[in-house]
Amino acid sequence: MKELTKLEILKWLREQRSSRLAELYERADAVRKQSVGDAVHLRGLIEISSHCVRQCMYCGLRQANRALQRYRMTREEILDCARQAERLGYGTVVMQAGEDDLLTAEWIAEIVRWIKRETTLAVTLSLGERRQDELKLWRSAGADRYLLRFETSDANLFRVIHPHRFADGPGRLTLLRQLKALGYEAGGGVMVGIPGQSFDSLAEDILTFRALDLDMIGIGPYIAHADTPLGSGALRPAILPSEQVPSNEEMVYKMIALTRIACPTANIPSTTALATINRVDGRKLGLKAGANVVMPNLSPTKYRRLYEIYPEKACIEESAADCSQCLRGQIHSLGRFAGEGQGGRGEFENLASILPDVSSRFVQLQA
Ligand code: SAH
Repeated sequence: MKELTKLEILKWLREQRSSRLAELYERADAVRKQSVGDAVHLRGLIEISSHCVRQCMYCGLRQANRALQRYRMTREEILDCARQAERLGYGTVVMQAGEDDLLTAEWIAEIVRWIKRETTLAVTLSLGERRQDELKLWRSAGADRYLLRFETSDANLFRVIHPHRFADGPGRLTLLRQLKALGYEAGGGVMVGIPGQSFDSLAEDILTFRALDLDMIGIGPYIAHADTPLGSGALRPAILPSEQVPSNEEMVYKMIALTRIACPTANIPSTTALATINRVDGRKLGLKAGANVVMPNLSPTKYRRLYEIYPEKACIEESAADCSQCLRGQIHSLGRFAGEGQGGRGEFENLASILPDVSSRFVQLQA
């Protein structure tokens, strides 16, 4: 039994035959079942601010996008969402935002303290590249997890699509290591099909997930946003057409499956972006290819449309209660069940250690 090599990953990423791919998804699903079980954890997503000081070339929240009306939730609105998360039986709330300087460290810390004191929820933050002292403060306020996708492991492409705010930021890979050192469960991840993204770099992404030993790994399709340089075609990173990764659902399922096999105990969501490119069953197919988490939207309906990282986002009209019901229905239709409790990665590490046959985590795959 051995781990996937880069060559094997690359072969799978280029595999087109549906019978072979069905086999890959089945194996990933078996690793998922053995390593993290049949529970699908629900994380309530609260999009707390759409203000952003960054200029990421693909994201609709980029500061230069004047077409977007901005909002920032009030403290009371956020606390209401957290109360609702508990009522709906979720184990975690995720507070996500653009890089918004007016979300001051102390203001966020106060909200984290409140949620940890008044509820039994795990708190995940996803507030972009923030300073070490801020990350430290939030951790000591009780924040459990931090999500910061590194988007691509191709350093050149990363630079092109993320103009720096400060010349000497630590970089997202370093930040992820620092987050782990601070005691957070750390979540990284990538978009699939970014213009300029090669198959080779996608294979490296998976090796990077493994090398960082990430607790959570979010993978979704890149979706063009017309009000951004990358989405409008104004920016075209150079790449050979045969090397360009397509931004279709199959590529995302392949990435989820290979990531599950490479990182058996990570929490892997079936993302809203996936549900956006296949509204009928994108979310379910992600769950069948290795994912074990979903992130129902908890943001007040009036704000959802405004948190426009990409256009036509799925599930922006439904109430939070409807989202919960719909997702639970999908989970049950797969013969699985909604997870109880916080569903942190530590729980699976314990599970894996008592399972009889851990060696099957390293399924041999002949590409
Ligand atoms: N400011 C935070 C949150 C960003 S939004 C941060 O930087 O981490 C969360 C994720 O949405 C991003 O990490 C990115 O992977 C994804 N995203 C942004 N724009 C997108 C697009 N056009 N298509 C698909 N996913 C996108």
